[in-house]
This record gives sequence, structure tokens and C-alpha cells, in this order.
Amino acid sequence: MSVWDDLVGQEKVSEHLVAAARDADALVTAAAADTPPPESSKMTHAWLFTGPPGAGRTQVARAFAAALQCVSPDRALGGVPGCGFCDGCHTALIGTHADVTTIAAVGTQILARDMRDTVRKSFTSPANGRWQVILVEDAERLNEQSANAVLKAVEEPAPRTVWLLCAPSIEDVLPTIRSRCRHLNLRTPSVEAVADMLVRREGVEPEVAAAAARATQGHIDRARRLATDPAARERRAAVLKLPLRVEDVGGALKAAQQLVDAATEDAKQLAEETDAKETEELKAALGAAQGGRLPRGTAGVVKDLEDMQKRRRTRTQRDSLDLALSDLTGFYRDVLALQLGSRVAIANADAEDALERLARSSTPEATLRRIEAIAACQEALDRNVAPLLAVEAMTMALRAG
Ligand SMILES: [Zn+2]
Repeated sequence: MSVWDDLVGQEKVSEHLVAAARDADALVTAAAADTPPPESSKMTHAWLFTGPPGAGRTQVARAFAAALQCVSPDRALGGVPGCGFCDGCHTALIGTHADVTTIAAVGTQILARDMRDTVRKSFTSPANGRWQVILVEDAERLNEQSANAVLKAVEEPAPRTVWLLCAPSIEDVLPTIRSRCRHLNLRTPSVEAVADMLVRREGVEPEVAAAAARATQGHIDRARRLATDPAARERRAAVLKLPLRVEDVGGALKAAQQLVDAATEDAKQLAEETDAKETEELKAALGAAQGGRLPRGTAGVVKDLEDMQKRRRTRTQRDSLDLALSDLTGFYRDVLALQLGSRVAIANADAEDALERLARSSTPEATLRRIEAIAACQEALDRNVAPLLAVEAMTMALRAG
């Protein structure tokens, strides 16, 4: 299985990247042999991957990073870089390659201090002599300062540095940055392609795979989670019951509270798993005895870590809420489809009774208003409105009538 086999429904994008990886390999080989580089090359030092959430932007970028680090002997025999097995591919994929740095937002923004070390590293040569790869998972979350730092680095790159930026759309990235990037847009993978991946890669039963792919409409990670994690299926089933429970004000407020509580619980669980361990490890690395005092001048470092953890908790809560809101949107889209007499593309076939009931008891106009109320809630959350406030406003708008 090469790194390219993991990409779901992105044949065009893969084609471009395979060609670039071949040329990148030729550049490295020429430099190692001290021969002049090939005259034309499809390789470039900055890439921007865009596409809808769940289409696999990060997976594509990571596959490319692995291909750039591929050291398989097959390359010399005309094999495609990105074998998936060699040391270069493997360590790049699991995130331990010395020359692949991944930046992911832990809060709603990537701060300048999160980028400082990485930007510095981008001006150095790769340790293993191939490429210094910097992968920014959520380039749309760069704030003004961190975006400016990236811009400087992309403007004057070290010869062997490659920036891989991922964002939902090209508008999410500063024009000055994106004008220096080669842009590749991913499409939403088809339901069939996602189902096929779940069967092939995860060993999921074809029927379960098809249902999960349909319910998540081309969102690869959500489909995988739904197909493999019973807790995710339970959570989704609870969310899909919400539309029938918001008939009066009391029901709406209670439903809002439950949605927010479930998201808070997700964030708490993650924090319990990681925070204490991270803090202990950092303190040990700084030279404090178990539970003991920190050496002079290191308290700020611990404070930075705690700030990061707090931002990560907020982000997890938002992500979890966002997932529930996407499920709800899908539900009302199905209601609308039934009301308009189209049964073809029902995503939530497992909730058909509830769908039929709502379709009969309301109008397409009312359904559209509800879909808009969910979108307004998502926007409010993006603007940092207190989650309960935003979700209550939404569930009140979802009531019948
Ligand atoms: Zn390889």
C-alpha cells in the first residue's frame, strides 16, 4: 500500500503530487551526485491544500510529506516516491520524522509563539538531506502576527524547505501568502469512495460502511468514527432525536443544555487523559523533582503549557458541538428533501420515522428557517459567543410553528 492509496476520491490531486514528488526526488538525487538539477520541475516550495471539511486535506498533505521523505530503493527503478513502508515514509506518516514539523491549532487561533520555533527551523537545512517539510493543518487559524511570520518564511525559503498549508478555502489564507503557493483543491469524496475505504482499510461490514458514509456525506473522519466507534453512534442517535424534543420552551432549553454538557464532557475526558501527564513530563524535563519546586525562571514555560491546554479544551468543546450541529443540519436537509418529494439522497435513513413526522407537520419554508438557525449558531460559536447562549438561541428557533 503506497501513501497514495490512502487518499479517498482525490485522483486528480494525487496525480499532481506524484509528479511533484518525482521531480523533488530528482532534485535531491542530482544534488547528491553533484550534477546540475533538471531544467524544469513540478516541485515548488509552498503548497496550499483546500477543500471541504472531512475531504482529507491533512491526509493529502501528510502523504505528500511522506513521499518527499521516501528513501525506498524502488525509486531508482522508476517506482513512485511514497512507498509507505520505508523509514522515511513511515516516520513521516506517524509524525516522528526529524524533518517533518506539523503545526495544528490547539485553540481557535495559531499564535505567533506557537510558530516561533517552526519558522526558525524553516530557515535551516533538513537533518536527513532531503526536504524540511512544515505542515500547517489549519492555516485559516493563523492570526495576524503568526501569518506574517509565515509570510516572511514563504517569501524567502531555504532551498530545501517546503511549506504545506491546509485550509477550508483559498479565501481563508492571506492573499500575500496564497499568491506564493501552488493551490490544489480537494473535492468532497463520493459516498461510494468513503464506504469502499471503510471496508478496505478498517475491515467494516459493507452495510455498516455504506450507512456511515451516507450519514456523514463525504466526511472521511466522521464516517470512520461512526463506523468503528459505538459511542459515536449513540451520540449521533441522541442528536437526531433532538428535533422531536424541542416542541416547547422547556424542551428547547433542556435540549440545549444537554448538547453543551455532552461537548463539555468530551473536552473534560480529553483533558483528563492528557493534561496532567503533559504537565508532569514538562516539569520533569525542566528539572523539578516529582511534585517538587521548579527551578528558578521556568514557571513561565509551565504557564504557557497550561494556557495551551486551556485553549485546547475550548477547541475540543467547539469541535464536539460542531459535529452535533452538522448532524442536525443533515437531519433537516433530509426533512427538506422529503418535503420537496425527493427521496433519492436521504442521509439519515436510520431516522426515517422522525424525518417523515417532521416533513408532514411543517413546511419547506420552516425547514429552511431551521437550517439557517443552525448555521447562525455555528457562526456565533466561531465568534466566541458563549456556547450555551448560542445553542439555546438555536434550539428555541428549532421549535415547531
Ligand atoms: Zn517510502
